[in-house]
Parts: sequence; C-alpha cells; structure tokens
Amino acid sequence: MAHACGNKYIQKQPFITAVNDLRTHNNYNFANIWEFLKALQLTILEQNLMLILIMKKKYNYLKLAFLALFLCSLNSFGTETSCLASYKTPYLKWKNLPIPIYASASLPPRFKVLLNEEIQKWNSSFKMKLFDYRGSSTFCHKKEINCVVLEKHSKYLALSGVEDYALTKQDFKHDYWVGADIFLNSGFKWKHPASVGEVDPGKVILHELGHVLGLQHHFFHLNSIMNYLPYEAGDVDLEISIFDKEILEWLYLGGKCPEDYLLAFIDGQEDLSMELLKKKYTDFSKITDVNLLYLISRLERSKNELDNSLKTIDMAIELSSHKSNIIKAYLLNHKADLYFRKNDIKSATKNFEESLKLWPGNYLTLTYLAQIKILMGESNKEALALLKQALKIKPTFKLAKELSLQIKK
Ligand SMILES: [Zn+2]
Repeated sequence: MAHACGNKYIQKQPFITAVNDLRTHNNYNFANIWEFLKALQLTILEQNLMLILIMKKKYNYLKLAFLALFLCSLNSFGTETSCLASYKTPYLKWKNLPIPIYASASLPPRFKVLLNEEIQKWNSSFKMKLFDYRGSSTFCHKKEINCVVLEKHSKYLALSGVEDYALTKQDFKHDYWVGADIFLNSGFKWKHPASVGEVDPGKVILHELGHVLGLQHHFFHLNSIMNYLPYEAGDVDLEISIFDKEILEWLYLGGKCPEDYLLAFIDGQEDLSMELLKKKYTDFSKITDVNLLYLISRLERSKNELDNSLKTIDMAIELSSHKSNIIKAYLLNHKADLYFRKNDIKSATKNFEESLKLWPGNYLTLTYLAQIKILMGESNKEALALLKQALKIKPTFKLAKELSLQIKK
C-alpha cells in the first residue's frame, strides 16, 4: 500500500486544517479530521485509534501532530514512494484477489460464455488472477455475492438517470470494495459481434469488469476500454490499455505510481494536472504521443486557451495518421468543438463532416452536426435525417431525441 507521509502535494493541507480546527476552536470538524486521517493513509486500525483519541479529546493539536508523524514514520518503512493522494474520489481496491464473479441464473447462456471470455481477457493481461468465474448462482440478490445480471427495469439503471447499457454497483467498507454487481440493460439489441444499432455485450462486460476492479473512466488512452469512446458502432477496437494495467499494478501489486498529472486529470483537478505536466515537459511541441497531446488540448480547452488547444490538437491529428480512423475521427470532433466555442461555425461543421466520413457510426457526431444545422436555421429536413440516423444507432440518446422533438413541434 502506498503511504502519503512523504507526499509533496497533499498531506500538509488536511493536516493543517485539522490541526487548526483543534487549535482555534478547541473543537474539531469531523470531516476535516477524517480527510486528514485518509491523507495519511494510516491503516484502518490506526485511523480508528486516532479518531477515538480525538473524540475523547485526549489529544491536543501538538500531541496529535506527534502521534500522526510517529505512526506515519512507522508506516513509511519499506514502502514504495507515494502517489498523488489528493483525490476527491480516491481509488479503492479489493482486499483479496481473485474476485469471485457469478452469472445470475437467468443470464442467457451466450452471455455466460462471453462473461467467462472477458474475465479471461482481464486475467491474461495481468500478472495475477484478477477474477474467478464461478458460473451461475441463485444467490445474486444477496450482498457481497458479485453477479452479472441482465434485466429490463433495473432500479439501479433507473437511478443513474440515463438509459445506459450497463451499470456497475459497488459496495465498500472503509477503504475496500466488498461487493460489486453488473447490471446489463436488456432494453438494447445485444449482439456479439455487433453491427450498427446493436451493442456488443463482450465490450460492455469488459468495461464494467474494469469498474469492478476499481478503475474509473478516463480519456487518456483513446482506445482504452475505460474511455468514453462510444462503442455502439461495432467497429471500435477498445483494449485494456497500458495505463489501465499501470493503475492496477499500483493498486494491487505495489507497482510504481502512475503519472501524477494523469491521476489529477482523472480526478477532475485540471489546474493541478496542467501544473504537473508543465513540470514534466518544458516544451509541449516536442511531444509525439497522440494520447498525451489530446489530454493537453483538453486541459487547454478547460482553461479557455482555445488557440493553444487548436494548435495542440492539430499536432495530435497529424501524428494520428498511422492510427485507426476512429481515433482520428475522435480528435476531429474535439477540433470541431473548439471551433464551435470560437463561434467559427463553418470550420466546426467542416471538421464534424470530416469526422463523420471516417466514423459514420458515431451517433454523437451525427447529433452535433444536426444541432449546428438547427442553430444556424439551416434545413430542418437534413437535421432530422441526421438525428434519425443517430437514433437508429443509439435509440435512447437523449439529446438526439430532444432535438427531433424540437424540430417536429
Ligand atoms: Zn463506465
């Protein structure tokens, strides 16, 4: 486990806040104390011990500081260097591997075969067994029995507010996952392999298993299975990326820390991510990694540096010529979005159209193009045709549904 004692970025802040609470108010703010204990990454036992002492007011701030440093120094022996620990949404992990996975008894047999195959993909991409496929179970309703379920009216899917293909519901205790269920939405046309308008259960299960392990979405490796690239088109070749493996090796095998700018980016801390990137790369124009350039362009966009962002994405597009059409199309969509923000509608349209040629099955591009046509007061007939095509690919896509209703009114 990585400990945060030597961490440059974060452990000081919760520590200072917690100590200030005790000093200035002779009181404590539970949330601050908890943040502080988490940042130290003490063991659960140590965290609880400190919490009891604090709550019983046995410790003033000075004693608290010494106790924390003492525990921290004990923990630091023999541990690897720490990773960026300032997550708003920290990475949790399972205490023990492999994670047992069951299929619900009602899961169709072809899904069970696929589940087993996708589990083997995760297992073989890693140095140790991550999952153990246990076959069917009739105990899927029980807590801490990890199941894959196919259902029509999932309360969990309904809770998520979007009609999506699947949802992974995880339960944790303290810092560990203790249960996870994957709910697949039977409201879609599932087919393996999928063509336009169908969803490949293999790809969706592979992605959801990533969530079960504790992986979050990210945009770093463009063709990572944990990316948001829409996989409806049936032609997107998503894989377990080097980055996904790095995260897992860090979590489960004491591997080296993933790049801190990536962790900050995934955590939504864009300013910090940029700051860390600038420390690592003094000259962005020398970067030749398409994924990294895309990330930088997104960060520049978030800072509203649209011209810089355009320059960076152009570098990425140029380098992406040897990559798949899908990647290039994805980058062109980003470029179109930048032009749109600059109010250059003509260039935005041109880039969306170019993207669509490379990836005709992307319902997002179809919908954005339709949206531009509606905004510009152009032919509603053309917009409607684009939306119809988008909804054929993803019938539940809310924006496309709303826009078509708007036109028909
Ligand atoms: Zn997901």
